[in-house]
Amino acid sequence: MSELWELSLAEAAQGLRERKFKVTDLTSECLGRIEATEPKVEACLSVLADQAMEAAQLKDKEKVTDPPLLWGLPLTVKDVFCLKGSPTTAGSKILSGYVPAFEATVVKRLKEAGAIILAKTNCDEFAMGSSTEFSAFKATRNPWDLGRVPGGSSGGAAASIAARQTPGAFGTDTGGSIRQPAALCGCVGLKPTYGRVSRYGIVAYASSFDQAGPLARTVTDCAMLLLATAGHDGLDSTASSKPVGDYLNLKAPKPADLVLGLPIELWQADFDPKVAKVLTEAKRSLADSGVKFKDISLPNLKYSVAAYYILAAAEASTNLARYDGVRYGQRKYSHQDGLMELYLESRTRGLGTEAKRRIMLGTFVLSSGYYDAYFRKAAQVRRLIQEDYLAALSECNFLLAPVSSIPAWPFGAFTSDPLTIYQLDMMTLPLNLAGGPGLSLPAGLGEDGLPVGWQLMGRHFDERALLNAGLLLEQLVPPPKKLPSL
Ligand code: GLN
Repeated sequence: MSELWELSLAEAAQGLRERKFKVTDLTSECLGRIEATEPKVEACLSVLADQAMEAAQLKDKEKVTDPPLLWGLPLTVKDVFCLKGSPTTAGSKILSGYVPAFEATVVKRLKEAGAIILAKTNCDEFAMGSSTEFSAFKATRNPWDLGRVPGGSSGGAAASIAARQTPGAFGTDTGGSIRQPAALCGCVGLKPTYGRVSRYGIVAYASSFDQAGPLARTVTDCAMLLLATAGHDGLDSTASSKPVGDYLNLKAPKPADLVLGLPIELWQADFDPKVAKVLTEAKRSLADSGVKFKDISLPNLKYSVAAYYILAAAEASTNLARYDGVRYGQRKYSHQDGLMELYLESRTRGLGTEAKRRIMLGTFVLSSGYYDAYFRKAAQVRRLIQEDYLAALSECNFLLAPVSSIPAWPFGAFTSDPLTIYQLDMMTLPLNLAGGPGLSLPAGLGEDGLPVGWQLMGRHFDERALLNAGLLLEQLVPPPKKLPSL
């Protein structure tokens, strides 16, 4: 048998069901793998070894005849999810030392389904970023090339899977933060429809976009994690009460029954030639199997980056207002100069450059005199992009697009150039503006040995159909056999 940490979530579930190994075996092997790889990868902000082993021992003593879906399966969660009794920082200094007294709904549901939380993973501060370099604590490295970023903001989640520290992880996707790191680290990532998974207990970034979702090595594994967490939640009024689909019994459609729309505005972007080559070959594999393509124009897509960065910054500026050293966040002040000093010093010292940039931008676009010119306009553009998205889906079954025009980049390549980083999000943001579900899948490895991903986008709340189609793509363009050598 291979090492237990090499198993996918579904394989591990089967092994546990058949009593081939114990929950403590699996948990301690994954914790061992974390210990062995962390010095190189730095995917985790806190490792919950004791709690995980304790939970595993309890599970081994349980007499379960019909184990729940994730019984005994190890997972990591991004450090924006509140976990009762464990530090939650959202990658920000201002939250260091914060220990929630409650559990995020996603975490609660994962635990109720039997999962064991191994660690909390690194992310850009308040999930603002595309490379995890904006974490206040450390830079996570891409397991495929330790000199490069893992993507972001859920870079720790993707790296924890690529490094085989865990078979499954949870992240959040406000503008691409599940799909893009999944693509850059060669794993599968699902952004569910806005409202499909509760956000209760997740540190907020931009509330009309934030959505939690799974990352894993296979489509089936993502489906299991979605099933365990999706559905109405009385604690989050934006969590939809639409019925949750049967994500377990997936069935790939016949290739000839599939028409994939190719948004021309995204496919015509300026690609790194190595990425373009992988995508062309992957498309050819689908076409050779009978999948049909249709070029579709979504004319307002070109405004996605501008609209998103206005709206998300506006929401971030209001969400982050609570970290003032009084209501929330570390209090810092060196002298007794009054309340304003306390606010200023707590925020100046507690927040990083990118968070401050967004607070200033967001406050500006919401200010009187500029609100109509920027915020309202961006909200109108968002509606047009939603309409383009729905119109495009009426002409095909799913949209297929790249995830990133370049592979994982070297550390520091763009940190002083925020507009270039924002522009790199152009492939992922349209889906968040439209609110639909998207599935990022490996499309192959480039000549440089770095993973390239692509994404399927589907109809709102029809994650089942999306996962079915994902299953077909996974069969026709299998994920890389090679593992990152660590
Ligand atoms: N890169 C985007 C941003 O910085 C998306 C981040 C996310 O999805 N959390 O806003």
